[in-house]
Amino acid sequence: MLAGLLVITAAGLIARPAASAQAAKPAQSRGDVELPPVSYVCPMTGDEDVIEDHAGKCRKCGMELVPIRLDSVWTCATRPLLVVASKPGKCPVDGTPLIQVTAAVSWSCKDKPSVNALEPGTCPDGSAMIKQYASRAHGNHNPQHGGVFFMAPDAWHHLEGTYLRSGIFRLYLYDDYTKPLPLNQAREVSASLFVKDAKTGKEAAIPLVRVGRSLQAPIGQHAFPAQMFAKVKFKPGGPEHRFDFGFDNYSKEPAKAPVATLTGMASMPAAGPSPSAGSPVAAAPELSAGVDPALVPLPIPETVPEMLAQLRTRTDQIRAFIDKGSFASIYVPAFQAKDLALALDEHTRELPAERRRIAAPAITKLVRSAWLLDAFGDIGNKQQISEAYVKFVEAANDIYSSFPQRP
Ligand SMILES: [Zn+2]
Ligand SMILES: [Zn+2]
Repeated sequence: MLAGLLVITAAGLIARPAASAQAAKPAQSRGDVELPPVSYVCPMTGDEDVIEDHAGKCRKCGMELVPIRLDSVWTCATRPLLVVASKPGKCPVDGTPLIQVTAAVSWSCKDKPSVNALEPGTCPDGSAMIKQYASRAHGNHNPQHGGVFFMAPDAWHHLEGTYLRSGIFRLYLYDDYTKPLPLNQAREVSASLFVKDAKTGKEAAIPLVRVGRSLQAPIGQHAFPAQMFAKVKFKPGGPEHRFDFGFDNYSKEPAKAPVATLTGMASMPAAGPSPSAGSPVAAAPELSAGVDPALVPLPIPETVPEMLAQLRTRTDQIRAFIDKGSFASIYVPAFQAKDLALALDEHTRELPAERRRIAAPAITKLVRSAWLLDAFGDIGNKQQISEAYVKFVEAANDIYSSFPQRP
């Protein structure tokens, strides 16, 4: 019963485009810049598997194919394409192993984002064009939680099954870009898991229950290799798909390295024996984008004045990222500001009633605007980002004025 099953690995769909295009058109070089080959793809959603090495019409829908440069790059699983490396290594933000994704490469101008050239060149203002990476639908077929990853037969949904040490089976749901399925769509999904009982040999259907954006159920302990399958309906009344999972061991989240080793990456002395030789530091990838120290997370301080001071720093960092146009980086200080606000929330009890009436809604507002900054930062809309930042600053100012600045 493996018929409806599609197993896509990094070596499958991802590796194909570069290989097929390579034969027809060797990578060009201009100066010392190696360009990935030009491929031709269909602009129609759902036809991402149409990748040709010559211009023409889509074999599925007949639309005119468009040229694109596809490259296979290494990046952080948690934030695809924030950092791009040419070889495996560790994510400088959270220390998890880098994953390989397919991305579209193009060149653009700082003040003219509408420029989207297939080759590097010069902008109208005389500056050199900036290389940029855009994610591709189906460009990321990596498990995000150490589980077993599948693309659904509808060629749009993706999912990942994990079997946790606690005896819980959890099913993560993703869209065509391997982003978590939006909540309103996750609500539509229904699924059951079938696990064979070791003693009776009978398969029992266990309904999976939605928790946030994933579905899960306790299934108890099973001997490895543990075989099970899920029957999943992405929409009520839609077709049911079967996905077979085999677990050789419990699923583990990608390991996060201590941030201290990562900060050391930039300041590591070149010579001299290092206690961490051969560790992530030695294997540090050549990052095409320098990692801003602001992206390195800090622990939440113990005292309220320290929390407020860190909140000011994070607020300034968000401002700086907006000014620089580094929208994709905004989420880091925004998330940390949110964590600081939640830590401050536990101290609102210590405030007099009239100050608490200001602090409590301000914390809610800050958490919400931090979340919006993250979301709009992803989209890259400066107008929306700036509006969310105004709200964020209003909330932060209310927080500063309601908490005592000194212990
Ligand atoms: Zn097409
Ligand atoms: Zn896919």
